[in-house]
Amino acid sequence: MSRLNFLAIACFVALSACQTSPTGRRQLVLISESQMDSLGDQSFEDLKKKMPIEKDAAINGYVKCVADSITAVLPEKRKWEVVVFKEDSANAFAVPGGHIGVHTGLLKVAKTQDQLAAVLGHEVAHVLAEHSRARVSEQLLTTGVLAVGGVLAQKDGRDYQLLMAALGLGAQFGITLPNSRAQETEADVMGLDYMARAGFNPEESVRLWENMAQASQGAPPEFMSTHPSHGTRIGTLGKYIPKVMPEYRAAKNRPRCKI
Ligand SMILES: [Zn+2]
Repeated sequence: MSRLNFLAIACFVALSACQTSPTGRRQLVLISESQMDSLGDQSFEDLKKKMPIEKDAAINGYVKCVADSITAVLPEKRKWEVVVFKEDSANAFAVPGGHIGVHTGLLKVAKTQDQLAAVLGHEVAHVLAEHSRARVSEQLLTTGVLAVGGVLAQKDGRDYQLLMAALGLGAQFGITLPNSRAQETEADVMGLDYMARAGFNPEESVRLWENMAQASQGAPPEFMSTHPSHGTRIGTLGKYIPKVMPEYRAAKNRPRCKI
């Protein structure tokens, strides 16, 4: 059964468990927002124990400067934790509960503050559009596991890995569950809007994906391998950049984040 059919049936069976995403797509939710937040909190704590953390003050200051500028314009005001992991792969992620993780390897591909803002805007959009909530819900439905607490307590095993993958931490926990193309496009469009309002040049998002494509000659970076094709992405960005340029021009803040 295709994923879409599956979702349509799941939504039909559990009508009350469906909601509309920011751009109007129906998605399945079987777990509450506060449960998602604690799931995000706990998985991020697990991750901090598992992966080496970058301590360099200049690198941390730079990443925090970009991340804070993005999170300051989000519709929902909350505190976001930003952690830089000492890891060579070009990756970044955001999880519910307000946590952003950036691998040091990403800074070689996202070469400017605006390019880094494009990645972080995109990742934070996945959380705000509740893609992780929809993915965890699908995972709970397909595996028949409804007691998240029990899975979390395992700290290993396939159910735990799948839950982490649904949260968007697949690369870190051994299994990747790519987002759907619709989720990726939605995160691209919302991410462009955030970066524009935060005062980062949206046109730099195209250069970021070009760098990603270049870096992926040979083995593709983990971050990119879970995303749609280069051409598809550049097409979407090209269509939406003109729509957010007025917001960029009107933005009060012009971040100057430097290492
Ligand atoms: Zn994505």
